[in-house]
Amino acid sequence: MANTTSKEEVIFVLTVDTEEEWDWSDEFPNDNFSVSNIFEIPALQLFCQELGIKPTYFVDYAVANNPNAAAVLANINPTLCEIGAHLHPWANPPFFGLTSEESSHVVNLPIEQTQQKLKLLIEKIQDNIGATPRSFRTGRWGINGDILQLLITNDFDVDSSIYPFYSNEFFSCENAKISPYWPDFNKPNQESAQRKILEIPVTCGFNKNNYPLCQKIHRAMEQAPFTWIKANGLLWHSKLLRKIYLSPELCTAKDMIKLVDLSLKKKHKILHMYLHSSSLIEGITGLSQDKNARESICKKIQQVIEHTKQNANIKFCTISEAKKQLAQQQNTN
Ligand SMILES: [Zn+2]
Repeated sequence: MANTTSKEEVIFVLTVDTEEEWDWSDEFPNDNFSVSNIFEIPALQLFCQELGIKPTYFVDYAVANNPNAAAVLANINPTLCEIGAHLHPWANPPFFGLTSEESSHVVNLPIEQTQQKLKLLIEKIQDNIGATPRSFRTGRWGINGDILQLLITNDFDVDSSIYPFYSNEFFSCENAKISPYWPDFNKPNQESAQRKILEIPVTCGFNKNNYPLCQKIHRAMEQAPFTWIKANGLLWHSKLLRKIYLSPELCTAKDMIKLVDLSLKKKHKILHMYLHSSSLIEGITGLSQDKNARESICKKIQQVIEHTKQNANIKFCTISEAKKQLAQQQNTN
């Protein structure tokens, strides 16, 4: 048996992108959103409460705007969860023409458009859920200095839009810090002296200890010709190299446990798990094809928590509670 007193303390945060469901391979819709997945949230919340987890729901406009879905979130005891904001440009008025692949990313919008959308999103969450969001995640990830400053103006003090080790044609989180940090407005992947908004990335890593080297190899494989891509698959299947996200919709419990062990070994202060609410129902988003999607996700979360408890003292926090703790720790260090 491990000795309780010698265990490290680690913060555990679960964030849930709380949003409509639809087939992501289709075009971006602007209305008639289906939010039936939200009715799985009371069961998820209850499950979390039993384990001690305090979920943070990053709520988007489609959910906040649906009276029945909003009521589900309004009915959760506010001391046992947090309501944050999540901006899907295609689902959040005012609209500025059809949404393209490019304009579906918040980072690509003119800041005036983001400002107008964010204003309506905050108002809708306040009116229909009765909460004022202080934490934020962009739709489709990615962040820049203009958005960070807009968030500060609107009283947000924690962002979680960095997707570690990921890049696409519009933004790159490749060299972003994987631990919480105060982002620079000019180079949001980097630490700065500002203390107004804290970035708390989701937990991601590799199944090998040397993350920078793993990232280099992984990247080289992704950019290499087809024969190399095959080699990358080979690396994955032979368990030599895996990129792992702490997300029960993307990874197995076994892989997540590996990631937890490496995070604890690296003395990381926080484990930040995430999922999409739409993964709580079967076969909608294409992320999870599991039968009994919610049960399957809960089972994985439980396995990860039980394993973590053997090796660390977990402090369960909402993301804003985690922000307070981490900011305090940094001030006293
Ligand atoms: Zn989303």
